[in-house]
Amino acid sequence: MKTDNKSQKIIKELEKFRKRDYTFSKGQILGSMCTQPHRISKEIYMKFLETNLGDPALFPGTKEIENKLISFYLKLLNAPKNATGLITSGGTESNITAIWIAKNLSEKNEIIIPKSAHFSFKKIESLMNIKIKTISLNKKYFIDINNIKKNISKNTAAIVGIAGSTELGTIDPIPELSEICYDENIFLHIDAAFGGFVIPFLKKLGYNLPDFDFKLKGVSSISIDAHKMGYTAIPIGALIIKDKNWLEKISVKTHYVSGKKQSGILATRSGGPVAAAYAVTKYFGKSGYKNLVNQCMNLTKYTEKRINDIGLKLVIKPTMNVLAIKLKNPSKVVKKLNNLDWRVNKMDRLSSIRIVIMPHITKKIIDDFLPVLKKVCKETGDI
Ligand code: PLP
Repeated sequence: MKTDNKSQKIIKELEKFRKRDYTFSKGQILGSMCTQPHRISKEIYMKFLETNLGDPALFPGTKEIENKLISFYLKLLNAPKNATGLITSGGTESNITAIWIAKNLSEKNEIIIPKSAHFSFKKIESLMNIKIKTISLNKKYFIDINNIKKNISKNTAAIVGIAGSTELGTIDPIPELSEICYDENIFLHIDAAFGGFVIPFLKKLGYNLPDFDFKLKGVSSISIDAHKMGYTAIPIGALIIKDKNWLEKISVKTHYVSGKKQSGILATRSGGPVAAAYAVTKYFGKSGYKNLVNQCMNLTKYTEKRINDIGLKLVIKPTMNVLAIKLKNPSKVVKKLNNLDWRVNKMDRLSSIRIVIMPHITKKIIDDFLPVLKKVCKETGDI
């Protein structure tokens, strides 16, 4: 495509900014839960750039793709017949929407979350006038079930369980949470923003993991993010809810766009990431995702062994493709790694750094990185 001189100048200027960014393709980003989108995701995204799912009658084709994507999630998460889903911009929006539903359904304003919950729940507290009761973790870094029971009150609107925690990739004992919530008639939200695209496939690969989805009768809603292990372009997540009638609780009448009512937080939203995510699910299918998760897990195990070999310790044995390396001086290590162009995530709460073996990470990247980490840790006194 030919561009005029003015455009070329602008493009050049912006390219200079872009060059300052780190890229997934160069393999420098080791700590992110996002990844380089699959090729088909990029191609389709561009084709749907002008579509707006906030005005669905104008884009009925794109709307149908969205419905198909939601159907994929419903099946993946063993959702019952009356379930439905909302496409969101990611885990934060899904979590906010889930608690919005729970609050309006119950007309109560307290939620119970584990200490390992994502910081999006802090936003919820401030946005929605919700009181949060934070539950400590046990030795395995799971929510402490006994403590939950003590914290349930007549004001409890929801309990939250994490299936793939942000810091460690741990899975709370969701079957037990489900029993409690079913018996007490409390909304149970599962944050599987990361684990939603990992746990179903690890189970298919024979890993012995607890159920976390709608197979459990007490589960009310699940967050799942395609822009994490779904291998697609940001921003896209989904909130799947057990009963489509609950949408009424978060619906408003629309005055000027197509459709009489709209549910969820956003109005105007791009069909680009939706079509792109659907393209990737079509391309991979469940068996493709199973292979992808297998590849990430095998490299996780390799990385775990190599980390132990250089004399460093993990906070816990990885449940999924998330590794947390225990350090005395995580800030110093991260700073030195940054200076050498390696990006890992610092986790102050656990005095550690996080590596996530996303699809863009190869064995070569790990082999290049670990000697650098070893050298840096020697300098900081961590080895
Ligand atoms: N929930 C979990 C478990 C996460 O790990 C994250 C992000 O890493 C989120 C929610 C928030 O997702 P997002 O950044 O897409 O809003």
